[in-house]
Amino acid sequence: MQCPSCKELNKDRVIDSRATEAGKAIRRRRECTACGQRYTTKERIEQEARLTVAKKDGSRMPFDLERLLRGMQQACYKRPVAQEAIQQAAEAIEEELKKSFEREVESRQIGLLVCRSLRDLDKVAYIRFASIYREFADLDDIIDDIELVKDAQADSHPDQRALFE
Ligand SMILES: [Zn+2]
Repeated sequence: MQCPSCKELNKDRVIDSRATEAGKAIRRRRECTACGQRYTTKERIEQEARLTVAKKDGSRMPFDLERLLRGMQQACYKRPVAQEAIQQAAEAIEEELKKSFEREVESRQIGLLVCRSLRDLDKVAYIRFASIYREFADLDDIIDDIELVKDAQADSHPDQRALFE
């Protein structure tokens, strides 16, 4: 811990511990060995945060990395993008989501991050995804319908790019 008074790091020592909140937390009285300041910390079991996705139709479902990965793989179908690169990009998006949204994220926010990520990976994959995303703004729909634009002439829609900048 950092002392709230002198800001020294890891100079604290615990002088008292007791259970609180019916045993769900522990309060610790600490003393800074550098300046003598006493302060209290509270410790509890960390809950693994479960992120919920709010879909466009109002329904909700738990965030699913596999589903996200599948959507991105679909977009990269037959494109020269390594599986590993897609996997890494999907994991980076998951991390970003968990950092930016505490409990709930709208599916369109996920779509935006996927668009940005695909734009760096492969332009055609990006445009495939973006053209579906623009219409449906829902990852499920994108997974279902991306087949339709897989073989579309991606480069014939250069102005779609501007929509997602
Ligand atoms: Zn101190």
